[in-house]
Amino acid sequence: MAERSYLDWNATAPLRPQAQAAWMDALAVAGNPSSVHAEGRAARRLVERAREQVAALVGAQPGNVFFTSGGTEANMLALTPAIETAGEKRPRDRLLVSAIEHSSVRAGGRFPRAATEDVPVAPDGRVELAALAETVRGASRPLVALMLANNETGVVQPVAEAAAITHAGGGLLHVDAVQGAGRISCDMGALGADIVTLSAHKIGGPKGVGALVRAGEEIHFPDPLIRGGGQERGMRAGTENVAGIAAFGAAAAAAHREFTAEAARMQALRDSLESGLKAISPQAVIFGQTVARLPNTTLFAAEGVKAETAVIAFDLEGIAVSSGAACSSGKVQPSHVLAAMGISPALIRGAVRLSLGWTTNETDIERFLTAWRKLSSALSKGQSIAA
Ligand code: PLP
Repeated sequence: MAERSYLDWNATAPLRPQAQAAWMDALAVAGNPSSVHAEGRAARRLVERAREQVAALVGAQPGNVFFTSGGTEANMLALTPAIETAGEKRPRDRLLVSAIEHSSVRAGGRFPRAATEDVPVAPDGRVELAALAETVRGASRPLVALMLANNETGVVQPVAEAAAITHAGGGLLHVDAVQGAGRISCDMGALGADIVTLSAHKIGGPKGVGALVRAGEEIHFPDPLIRGGGQERGMRAGTENVAGIAAFGAAAAAAHREFTAEAARMQALRDSLESGLKAISPQAVIFGQTVARLPNTTLFAAEGVKAETAVIAFDLEGIAVSSGAACSSGKVQPSHVLAAMGISPALIRGAVRLSLGWTTNETDIERFLTAWRKLSSALSKGQSIAA
């Protein structure tokens, strides 16, 4: 295959070499981590080492990390009215969800629909803190869900401020850090997060592995989703995905070590991408540009462009990008994130997301800009592009 540029790291990141090595090594370990013999203990060691590595990425104690099948399951596990703290055992009465959360959070976990409320965002893509404070005041024991950074726009949310508001109102804060962790600092203590969701495949680990992390032992989930053998201290039954977990741990360690340097490099690449884009299409809109964003993400739209057509046209040019719209089961839905920011439906239809990662280089940016220079005027007229 001709050389391609993969600019869709927010959908998933390639496996890091360290994760691949850990995965292969773990496959050679035969034991079940619950077995007491030497083979079992070897498997247990891999899982517990990974727990330490994942905990370190978010500044938590290893004992507060629970492995799951991914970010979606961790979100589902976290969002339950039954969540208890040392001082509060009564069920949580409301789930307050920012309007830009990932669909796995917006689905509301195990809260009844009627107990779930949206918290609006400003046109810049950040949650409205005044609205959050008001909604928290209207509840007595809320669980608030606010992501660290948005998967479409990359906009970083004011999590520490939201935590202060939530705690002052007797609430708990859940932070979906699937896109933020490993790209920007994600220290649970500094953020004031009570519960954090992580996913391995966004940081260079394998798909199908994630974690729910709690700030302390006093936070308790009495209603696990999967009951059975009592693995993960009763929080998630089933024999552990040892190789996947070991690879997740290795990816977390590499991300933790390298993200500061990676962020600076990616931001420089992203800045040159955005200035090149604006030079070719001065009318293009880059969403969330006035506030802090993930260093790797650009979501842009140009009037008249249909994102699905653009994605195919870029693919034919050897570039993988995604439309801002969530696409599942082949059905393209308009982006709820951009709609919540008050963006016009015409622009939403044209939103294209570029997301970079640790192997992205100047050649990838040049390839994208060359393709955009070639395609933009035809795409803006809504024309389809032949190969
Ligand atoms: N949360 C966010 C913000 C995401 O971007 C994603 C994946 O795209 C998820 C949760 C779901 O994670 P997973 O794919 O591991 O289920």
